[in-house]
Amino acid sequence: MKPLGFCERCGYFEGICRCKRGKILIDGEKRERVSKFLSGLLRHYPERFNVELDEYGWANIRDVLKVLRERYGIDRNILELIVRFDPKGRFEIKNEKIRAKYGHSVRVKFNWSEEGEIPPKLYHGTHPKNIDSILKEGLRPMKRLEVHLSESFEDAVEVGKRYHPNPVVLVIDTKSLLNHGFKIRKKGKVYTTDYVPPECIVDVVKT
Ligand SMILES: [Zn+2]
Repeated sequence: MKPLGFCERCGYFEGICRCKRGKILIDGEKRERVSKFLSGLLRHYPERFNVELDEYGWANIRDVLKVLRERYGIDRNILELIVRFDPKGRFEIKNEKIRAKYGHSVRVKFNWSEEGEIPPKLYHGTHPKNIDSILKEGLRPMKRLEVHLSESFEDAVEVGKRYHPNPVVLVIDTKSLLNHGFKIRKKGKVYTTDYVPPECIVDVVKT
């Protein structure tokens, strides 16, 4: 990931600021490590670090900062920067609380959605070996609680690359999915749903 910093002239920035005189607050390598840890903490193992999540996945920012301070020497300012610049919009801070917006394996209520239009098409990148069963049985959440859909084809390719260097991208017709009675929830650039029946998959693109 790129570093994050602050410049008196340019404000907070990712990478290098316009005047090139800004100060780096966290380097890219550490930012990546902290982001990964934060994502695991808020999605999968809060109890391991005595962090409590409420039913919607919110943790007290104080508790999370205590862990981050001990492990990485991270302060509030840097945590807010990490959240604000997260390329996948994975986190959210509100009223002294922080949560992951999606991707949980711990039981939380995820049936909330941000305001905004649902695009006509959404995308899902996956390993080529999964295609036959998905086209037969539909798309189900695997280890997570929800099915994740990407806003753009490119984002779906990136997600799919975690599983295979040449992932396959499924194109989902959202109107058809809604007509089948499934809700689509907007969580930043990621959209989630409970299940995608095969009839709603309108294209399969090899990359
Ligand atoms: Zn600057």
